[in-house]
Amino acid sequence: MQYCDQSAQTRFPMSNITYKTAHGALPWVVLVAALLPIARAAELDRSLDAIDSKVVAWRRDFHQHPELSNREVRTAKIVADHLRKLGLTVETGIAQTGVVGLLKTGRPGPTIALRADMDALPVVERTDVPFRSTVKSNYRGEEVGVMHACGHDSHVAVLMGVAEILAGARDKLRGNVLFVFQPAEEGAPPGEEGGASVMLKQGIFDRYKPEVAIGWHAWASINTGTIGYRSGPFMAGSQAWKAVVTGRQTHGSRPWQGIDPIVVAAQIINGLQTVVSRQVDITRNPAVVSVGAIKGGVRNNIIPDSVEMIGTIRTFEAAQYEQVTQAMQRIVEKTAEANGTSATFTLDPYRNPVTYNNPELTARLLPSLRKIAGDSNVKEIALITGAEDFAYFAQAVPSFFFMVGVTPQGTDVTTAPANHSPLFYLDESALPLATRAMTQIVMDYLMVSAQR
Ligand SMILES: [Zn+2]
Ligand SMILES: [Zn+2]
Repeated sequence: MQYCDQSAQTRFPMSNITYKTAHGALPWVVLVAALLPIARAAELDRSLDAIDSKVVAWRRDFHQHPELSNREVRTAKIVADHLRKLGLTVETGIAQTGVVGLLKTGRPGPTIALRADMDALPVVERTDVPFRSTVKSNYRGEEVGVMHACGHDSHVAVLMGVAEILAGARDKLRGNVLFVFQPAEEGAPPGEEGGASVMLKQGIFDRYKPEVAIGWHAWASINTGTIGYRSGPFMAGSQAWKAVVTGRQTHGSRPWQGIDPIVVAAQIINGLQTVVSRQVDITRNPAVVSVGAIKGGVRNNIIPDSVEMIGTIRTFEAAQYEQVTQAMQRIVEKTAEANGTSATFTLDPYRNPVTYNNPELTARLLPSLRKIAGDSNVKEIALITGAEDFAYFAQAVPSFFFMVGVTPQGTDVTTAPANHSPLFYLDESALPLATRAMTQIVMDYLMVSAQR
């Protein structure tokens, strides 16, 4: 994708996307009593238009200066400075680099939490955008490139924009808005903790008591102008696992003098394929079992002492998770036993829960999204087997997480580089939709006249 030398507004024309706001849905003949809210809505529209170019500029700056998980120092400082300038109460250093800001309206009402994740990935950027990242960092002892290949740069920029809009509209609102900028969504570096669960452990929801939490993700599998959502389970729970097969080392020419763990591992890998295909009721929920790496042996003529395998499990339901992990354990241990040896099966202590959209909250918020994107552009989408640590917030309070398409209209989403690809391309003309969607949700939820 080439960039020409124009302003952000003209470079990314938005004429093909309809943004309807609250007043735009009203008939032209209205009661005099309704004129004030209309004037206010028009005022809000103007602020939203003004914020769009700021959001793009912030996003490009973050894109050019990406930071790995738990290292989001520069990003967090920019966020905290911005929130302070807006007059919010700001806390920093939560879960290492996390920032929260509280916007108080001074009127009684609920607190709504809005979340953006700040971290980038160890990926060498291969896009040709002029603000592409050339940053290098250290990850697992190796020098790596760093890239916002998951669009978290846009999440931060949009939420900064939403904070600015809502800070200017606080006289129209009741309750509070809690802005949560979290580190390490992609997972903390080895030996560290991080992310949403640590922010919760450090008490942010205990202190601010949000009634609900809302988040969104820039999503390459959807075209610009479309919002994807799902009620109930939405993104998978993920669980890393490890199996170690014990063998007995011997010469490759005399396998009968040892126990060959490579053959046992091969049988286990084949056996694991039957967990999803033969043992899980896939009409209820899908599941995924993958082997990601296998390690054993150093030389062509030595049968090794052991083989280690690691992989991931994706499920959408607690009972199915139990069934899958028990079946895997049985296959690993019993296959080894059948070969006259033993194997261990262990689950990583870190388990990302299912991202669950509260059905009542989803139903309540959908009209806000439809107002902004247009009815036909808010679509129920399939389950996503990727995991998202917003799931922890969704376990703590009723929550809603949605996807905003960032692949340019006219581009086939099935061939567009996915999130995490070095070629991941975020169409910035999608960002006004995200800014307006988050703003509209809060306006509708906390509007002074809102009935509960
Ligand atoms: Zn990601
Ligand atoms: Zn992400």
